Amino acid sequence: MAFYRDGLKHPTHIWEAAAMHHLVRVECGAQRCVNSATFDPHALWGLFYRRHWDDHFPVAQHRFWCRVCSRLAGFRVKAAQMSSLGTSVGDVTHPLPMPDEHVWKSFLNRHKG
Ligand SMILES: [Zn+2]
Repeated sequence: MAFYRDGLKHPTHIWEAAAMHHLVRVECGAQRCVNSATFDPHALWGLFYRRHWDDHFPVAQHRFWCRVCSRLAGFRVKAAQMSSLGTSVGDVTHPLPMPDEHVWKSFLNRHKG
């Protein structure tokens, strides 16, 4: 669940980031690599929801692999770290289809505390 630090609420799941309208950042954690991606939280939630994937950041980040590192290494490098950008303002680098509004709203009604 979301936690509070310095008086600010921090999401720990993609759906929480979506509920807060915070963009989701996925960064490559490999040394010297600066590759990162920014996702619309609703679109990313929709992808995980459709595939029945766990959207908890520490689990969800294992779904990602770095194209830059992988090209150099010759295999899929999985060192991604997912976090909330803490803002709704920013450039979405990886646009995904938006989830059905009704599906999202009904999910949110079941999960928000
Ligand atoms: Zn990388």
